Amino acid sequence: MSILDIRVLGDPILREDTTPVEAITDELRTLAADMFETMYVAKGIGLAAPQVGRTERIAVIDVDEEPLVIINPEIVHAEGKAKAEEGCLSIPDIYGDVERYSKIRIRALDLEGQPFEMDADDLLARCFQHEIDHLHGKLFIDYLSVLRKRSALAKWSKEKDKYPRFIRQLSSDPSDDHEHPDEEL
Ligand SMILES: [Zn+2]
Repeated sequence: MSILDIRVLGDPILREDTTPVEAITDELRTLAADMFETMYVAKGIGLAAPQVGRTERIAVIDVDEEPLVIINPEIVHAEGKAKAEEGCLSIPDIYGDVERYSKIRIRALDLEGQPFEMDADDLLARCFQHEIDHLHGKLFIDYLSVLRKRSALAKWSKEKDKYPRFIRQLSSDPSDDHEHPDEEL
């Protein structure tokens, strides 16, 4: 397995739609395994393919030590609203309150190519929505009010110089930790 570079805000791939997966190949299985490893090293709870520079419609999630791969995911039912702070592995050190559905049902394929449906609430529901957004070129900052988005982008304009060519290289050194204790997706 390998640790992949994470693309940060400014890389155009984060704004592109992904391509639905048509066949489960060894290459896709390797990508999923690498995405899990990358997500764990980055201490995230979700990671979508565009964040590692890929265009396949796949994301990995691990909330509460339950690793999940979602391929071609769709939200088939949604209810309730909940607001909570979110961060993103592709926009390090920027956080904002985002309103999401509090309860959803998703439909997706697993790594065997089998369709499944799953109900989620709370953090898992939020994580699914955040990752599915990534698969369609949408980022959490798009939900912020004009003022909050402006201040987030002003902060980011100072942060982004740490990531030449919009690439965030992770190190497996545990001392390379993040300043914010919240989970990132
Ligand atoms: Zn994200």
